[in-house]
Amino acid sequence: MGLTELTAVDWHALSPRETLERLESDASAGLSDALAAQRRETFGPNALETSPPVAALTLLLRQFTSPLILILLVATGVTLLLREFADAAVIVAVLILNAVIGFTQEQRADRSVHALMSLAAPHATVLRARVRKRLDARELVPGDVVLLEAGDRVPADLRLLSASELRIDESLLTGESAPAHKSPDAVDSRALDADRTSIGHMGTAVAAGRGTGVVVATGAATVLGGIAAQMSVQERPPTPLQQRMHRFANLIAVAVLISTAVAFGLGVALGESASTMFLTAVALAVAVVPEGLPVAFTIAMALGVRRMARRNVIVRTLPAVETLGSTTVIGSDKTGTLTQNRMTVVAAWTADGWFHLGEDVEAPDAASESMAEQVGMGRRDPMTATLRTGVLANAADVRRSDKAAEADDARHIGERGYVSVGDPTETALLEAAMRCGLSVDDVRSGSPLLHDVPFSSARRHSYVIVDEAGPVLRLKGAPEEVLSRCTRMATPDGDVALDADAALAAAERMAARGLRVLAMAARRLPEGDVPAAPDDAAAWRSVSHAEDPQGLMLTGLVGMQDPPRPGVRDAVARCAAAGIRVVMITGDHPATAAAIAHDLRISRTNGNSDGNSDGSTSEAMPVVTGAEVEVMSDEELARKVAVTHVFARVAPEHKLRIVLALQGQGEVVAVTGDGVNDAPALKAADIGVAMSRVATDVAREASDMVLTDDDFVSIVAAVEEGRVVFDNVRKVTYFLLSTGSASIVAIIGAIAAGLPLPYTPAALLWLNVVTNGLQDVALAFEPGDEDVLERSPRARSEGIVSRALWARTALTGTAMAAGSLWLYVWAAERGYAEDAQRGVALTTFVVAMALHAFSSRSVQRSILHQDPRTNPFLLSAVIGALVVHTAALYWSPTQALLRIAPFGADAWSRMVAVA
Ligand code: ADP
Ligand code: MG
Repeated sequence: MGLTELTAVDWHALSPRETLERLESDASAGLSDALAAQRRETFGPNALETSPPVAALTLLLRQFTSPLILILLVATGVTLLLREFADAAVIVAVLILNAVIGFTQEQRADRSVHALMSLAAPHATVLRARVRKRLDARELVPGDVVLLEAGDRVPADLRLLSASELRIDESLLTGESAPAHKSPDAVDSRALDADRTSIGHMGTAVAAGRGTGVVVATGAATVLGGIAAQMSVQERPPTPLQQRMHRFANLIAVAVLISTAVAFGLGVALGESASTMFLTAVALAVAVVPEGLPVAFTIAMALGVRRMARRNVIVRTLPAVETLGSTTVIGSDKTGTLTQNRMTVVAAWTADGWFHLGEDVEAPDAASESMAEQVGMGRRDPMTATLRTGVLANAADVRRSDKAAEADDARHIGERGYVSVGDPTETALLEAAMRCGLSVDDVRSGSPLLHDVPFSSARRHSYVIVDEAGPVLRLKGAPEEVLSRCTRMATPDGDVALDADAALAAAERMAARGLRVLAMAARRLPEGDVPAAPDDAAAWRSVSHAEDPQGLMLTGLVGMQDPPRPGVRDAVARCAAAGIRVVMITGDHPATAAAIAHDLRISRTNGNSDGNSDGSTSEAMPVVTGAEVEVMSDEELARKVAVTHVFARVAPEHKLRIVLALQGQGEVVAVTGDGVNDAPALKAADIGVAMSRVATDVAREASDMVLTDDDFVSIVAAVEEGRVVFDNVRKVTYFLLSTGSASIVAIIGAIAAGLPLPYTPAALLWLNVVTNGLQDVALAFEPGDEDVLERSPRARSEGIVSRALWARTALTGTAMAAGSLWLYVWAAERGYAEDAQRGVALTTFVVAMALHAFSSRSVQRSILHQDPRTNPFLLSAVIGALVVHTAALYWSPTQALLRIAPFGADAWSRMVAVA
């Protein structure tokens, strides 16, 4: 089978059977592994041409574009004109060194960031050799049978084989925003792309429903591939910190020009020769310009991305790295993020009374005698009906397995080789049924499926219509949702009028224990309610009971336990210390949410006296529900979000409003999400966080970062790393600014005091290479203070260099300059030769700056309280600088170049003391 054979076919006009035959595939088995591997060879990866990593030359040239570097280029030109070739050579050396460091580091950073970001690439659920697998979407080949669910990106061009309520948002291709209904029925061979309802196009998003399809085109051969080839690649815009950095660089450039002009003017006025002063001014500019800043910045960012990856966070957009550091509110899902999403049914209620199912998930097939008895198996009792509905209105699967997990979302049950695959809420229901002695296979084969409406967070229920000697609708979902559709209630002696209060009280009781509650209901439908063609989804929509089931009979409720993730309580406490508020935003019942929030200490009773709040809040934990959000004005919501820690029964559109309201209060909001409908909230948030295990592709693409372990703890880790990045940029800036200002102060001071110039131009340049060249970059490797999470978040408007830091810069700069000049004077009085005097002055600087590099590591801790081993790069950069400088001091060519000479031990000891 070759590419040309495939592209010539009008797949949309063929029947599913013909399609499968042509592709030598099978709807229930998929491709064999061998055939798939062979096709992977033939067709290559299922991927579009991605933008290539920045070309090496561009990257190299980019090293020369900053205004700081331009100053240095001009300086080189001037120096050459003055025929000071030694100085020109040193400046060129500085430039080249800087470019090389910048180039290699940026290239490495770019590559690793690229590699990390591609970890968040889309996946697809595929049948291979009868086994359902999650694969990297790149591995798909023509003939693969793909399973689609709401929220998936269609991973390749598919010919649909089955569809249930399947609607696909094709706006990407057609610009049409209303999702298109899809069905496996063949369409006219002349239909345009937009009218091919039997085709799922790569890149479009499943808005609702479920379906399967067989891959007919991959990668560049798809419709999207054709379009992508015509689109130009986009440049990534600079991040806010980058922009701030650019502005900062421009500011520095101006400051440098002014201060060197002052030095020049002052020198000439006091009688130095203009050409000497000019060269000194040029050299000063070179020494002061923090040309290492952009490089150090890039490195700090890239290291941040890497460290986050090590802590299970994949950053998708670079600005997220810095925004994370100023996060003030984390809005988190409950299920799966704060809790483990390992559901176990532990209790059930029916008109027959309470059932306690225990927490024993071992060996589900060994029907525990007592459990089966307790449930009264074999009688047509409400509990059995409840369990049966749980099994039938259920998209998950439990099966015996000899191998370990085939699917990465599989859950092992006991040691007996059972795995369950699917939504944990649903697998829990299957496991409960098995523990009570029901066979999932028997139940399902005894009640063939006619129609199926999958769960959605917006509807909060799912149901099926099955054939049990006539059509029966079986529905499960959130208790209020289900009860509002019920009129009757099952008892062991037939059905009676619904006692809604009793049922609600039972639900409330389980929810208060932190259990997730689901209700089950059923109804026999009139025979005429089954359309002639049950496969036709559109026909079902015209059947009254199927669209909006009413008049149901409640059979019972189940409560499932979902333990908190380990470490979450601790992480919540750390957030509190870091000035970050944690807000739970869940679709679950208010009482369940409150119980879990309480357990995790998400809210202490807020000391705020919002006394006249409406009666809907319980005394223990104020909870605001989605229904309340719905009717609130924006102002009211703004007041509420400021004091609320738990939002329950929230639909995705409420989440968006909550995020916007928080932002309106000036909060920097990180919010988690997984469903298709969460995408707007994820986009709107300052940091959209997608869960990698459960997130739909659409949610993932709307997000700024992806959690590979879905764990709340990782969000907090990411915030910590974000703060470290900003701290490091700040440390580098401080170091470069203060060493630069030291040079300026020293030169201007010497001129003003009428001393001969203590540093030759070449020496100033030397200082630049030896002291700044590597130490600044090394500072970007700082692991971060342990207490980064014990400070309040940085205000978003706060600049890189705060006012206090400016003051500190001026102070240390002056101190270093004074020390150097003082020793210079001392050396002159001591009778050292001029070269040796200069040697003393220069070396004082080198030693002082080396120590200063360490003191720049932390604003809080002095250098005496640090462990130098936590940043080995810095330690070696500093030692390297000292060694190189000492060597230069004793090597005659460099002595000549720098016009320095060695000096005695007495000078060394004073130097260390000054430093
Ligand atoms: P969250 O994930 O934030 O806890 P969801 O939107 O997933 O909230 O679920 C909301 C409610 O819908 C749950 O409390 C539960 O009662 C019900 N529910 C959850 N999953 C299912 C499902 N697979 N089938 C039927 N009902 C469900
Ligand atoms: Mg959920």
